Amino acid sequence: MKVFTTIVEIQNYLKSNHPKTVGFVPTMGALHEGHIALIMKSIAENELTVCSIFVNPTQFNNLDDLKKYPRTLEQDCEILQDAGCDVVFAPSAEEMYPTLPSLKIDFGYLEHIMEGKFRPGHFNGVGIVVAKLFNIVKPTKAYFGQKDVQQVAVINRLITDLSFDLKMVVCDTIREKDGLAMSSRNRRLSPEARGHATKIFQSMIIGQKLLLEGYSTFVVKNKVLDFYKENPQFKLEYYEIADFETLESIDELNPKRRTAIIVAAHLDGVRLIDNYIF
Ligand code: AMP
Repeated sequence: MKVFTTIVEIQNYLKSNHPKTVGFVPTMGALHEGHIALIMKSIAENELTVCSIFVNPTQFNNLDDLKKYPRTLEQDCEILQDAGCDVVFAPSAEEMYPTLPSLKIDFGYLEHIMEGKFRPGHFNGVGIVVAKLFNIVKPTKAYFGQKDVQQVAVINRLITDLSFDLKMVVCDTIREKDGLAMSSRNRRLSPEARGHATKIFQSMIIGQKLLLEGYSTFVVKNKVLDFYKENPQFKLEYYEIADFETLESIDELNPKRRTAIIVAAHLDGVRLIDNYIF
């Protein structure tokens, strides 16, 4: 496995090896089985797989969150080597941003709901770094996790609006046995908080059950708010019930369309997000 830290090095390598197909998995490191599922899918579908590890400062609207984001490059490289990844791209912030980009990307409606609303500027940072990485790696296919459902919508727009010549592949969320979605941030939870963390998954299952029983989203949201009040370890940011395709809030379940329950909550000073599609 090759590890590159500069754009010139990785581009020269890719140019001189000219693989027929390149699969690309962008990550912020602190890898877990969710990331590895993306890597394995890419390995199965492409001649060469590139994983980027870059904690992108421009997508953090909270400095403390950026500082505390786990960084475990050495361990990540071992995991990637064992998984059979071909190339790791782990640039510094200076390498990616010799000067801060003046370009701003506005994803319209997606900026005003959920992650867009609670993390102003987040998707601008995501859009620019992903576009830069696409231009550097020039992948045939890029792999993203359903866990970040709104990010998937944003990247879809980016690919369409800027005519990137690649296919986006979206992979299911990988969960711990108790339902908690795997996340790099989970390792920041105290053992006690980790015990509570499964309740985020439970709150989505409760919501699904009530919706299937015919309750309106208004009633369901109120019942779920009560559930979070009974579990004051959590500071709920949002609990949305939306159409899966448009991510717009819905009032009632439409049996002909897929529904997404999407949650963001703080637990033990750690911000966790998850979603459940049915
Ligand atoms: P991150 O390192 O958190 O930026 O995530 C890198 C990629 O892995 C993104 O496309 C995420 O959606 C995806 N990902 C993160 N956690 C999971 C998970 N539990 N299951 C599947 N994909 C995930």
